This record gives sequence, C-alpha cells and structure tokens, in this order.
Amino acid sequence: MTANYAIALHGGAGVDPARDYREVEEHLAELIARCADKMGTGLSAIDAVEWAVAELEASGLYVAGRGSAPNDRGFVECDAAIMDGASGKAGGVCALQDIASPVRAARLVLDQTPFLLLAGEGARQFALNNGCASVGDPAAHYRLPVGVEADDLSQLDPGLVHGTIGAVALDGNGRLAAATSTGGLLGKQAGRVGDTPITGIGNWADSRVAISCTGIGESFIQAGGARDVTARMAYGGEMLEQAAAGMLNAVAAKGGDGGLICLDQTGRCVMRYNSPGMKRAFARSGEAAIVAIL
Ligand code: ASP
Repeated sequence: MTANYAIALHGGAGVDPARDYREVEEHLAELIARCADKMGTGLSAIDAVEWAVAELEASGLYVAGRGSAPNDRGFVECDAAIMDGASGKAGGVCALQDIASPVRAARLVLDQTPFLLLAGEGARQFALNNGCASVGDPAAHYRLPVGVEADDLSQLDPGLVHGTIGAVALDGNGRLAAATSTGGLLGKQAGRVGDTPITGIGNWADSRVAISCTGIGESFIQAGGARDVTARMAYGGEMLEQAAAGMLNAVAAKGGDGGLICLDQTGRCVMRYNSPGMKRAFARSGEAAIVAIL
C-alpha cells in the first residue's frame, strides 16, 4: 500500500552558525528517509510524530531527550506534548525527570487519561507505572548539546544553548498530528516550564494544520504560539506563511527568537525561523526530501 503523506521535523532553532552540524544533518537526512518509508506504507500521523520525536530524543544530538541540557541545579527536566488533529486529543508532560522518552509519556497521557498535562513527580510516576523506561544513571545517559564541552557550561549564553525537537505529519487518510519535546534552556531555573508542553502554544494539531514551535518559550507563550497562527488564519484570513511570520514577529516583539514548522491539510509545509538557523527536514510523497540548518 502507498499513501500520500507529508512529514516535517525540526531539531530546534537554537543554532550557532560557528558550530559544526554535519552529524546533525546526516542524522536528519537518515531519519526523514525512514519517516517517509514508514508513512508511505500507511503509518498514521499520530504514530509517525511520536516515533520520529522518540528517535530524535534517543539520538542525543538535540536539546531534548538524551541531549537535554542541565538546569541551574545540575539536573535535567524535560517537557513534551503530542496532539492528534483528527480527534482533538492531546497529552503533555512537564518538569519530568529521568524518563528516557518524554514524548512516549505524553502519548500515554493522551491515550490513557482525561488530562492534558501532568507535571513533575506525578508525571514521572505515571510514566513509570505505564511502562516508560527510566534513564538509569542520569550522568551516563545524558550528553551535552553538539559542540558544547563541560568546561564551556559556565560561560555559555543560556539563550543560545536551547533546543527542542518536533514533528508534524499528514497521513494518507488526511489526518494531521504534531509532537514536540525539549530539555528547555541550558541553566534554566529548576521547575521552569516553557511553551513546549502547553497544548496550543508549543504544539498543536487540528483538522487543518499541525504546528511545532521552538525558541524562547516565554516569548512564545506571551505571543500566543501555535494558536495565534491558527487564529490569524481563521479570523484574519491569513495564509499559513503569513500567519507563521506574523506569530514570529510577535515573538520577536516580546524579545524572543525561534521558529516553527507547520503542515496544512493539503500537505503544504512552512518552516520559518527568526533565529540564525533551525535544524529541519521535510518529506512529501513523490518528492525528494529536504534537510537544512542555516
Ligand atoms: N521552547 C523551548 C523552551 O523554551 C526551548 C527551545 O525550543 O529551544 O523550553
């Protein structure tokens, strides 16, 4: 069976043009090809975004999952969200410690609870009770972001060392889905939660559009994030490109930068950022995949 599909990935907009991202580019190229194979044989959008984000988390190449940066007390807290555009169901976790795949935990919140967001120790217990793997020894599990050495940590600009991963997909049945996962900002205050796990801000999918955001979470929350994009389209009659640009301008007005990937029900993809770059990849049935960073 072959299906018409589209899938886009991002690996965060916290890009430093001076760093060498060849390993990331190779990883994105290989992953988007595997995503395309899976979607071409009928994988649903919701399963595709969960699978893709779990792969990005496990790689340790992005500031999410295994690559999450430590907070100001030296430990990792992760946030993630997932949404199924067809059903409108969503799930998220925040300030989650020691779970290997936060997006898996978010999917379990979607599938198994009437809630949208579980936090902290309650989220961790829920994840463990529902079969999520623990990271084991955090010191052995987590790896620093690409190009960052342990000695650099005290001198780095926390606004630069951040990142998020995300996926948006349209499957052969016309269903959209989005998933987003992050380790947040390097050196963030313990307990700080950004835009990523908040459905409608860092992550959103409905029957018309799926969106995953990355950037300074506080500014995305202040600007309205993903739901601001959908509102610009629904109430302002804006096209997807224009709506995404408008929301990013509002983020900039709040002092932040970042980017977003969006996919609509026709397979049109917008990948936009106002930071120096955004790790990104896109595949659509019948077309060559695209991978880019700067
Ligand atoms: N949005 C994430 C946060 O604020 C960070 C990022 O996307 O780089 O936690």
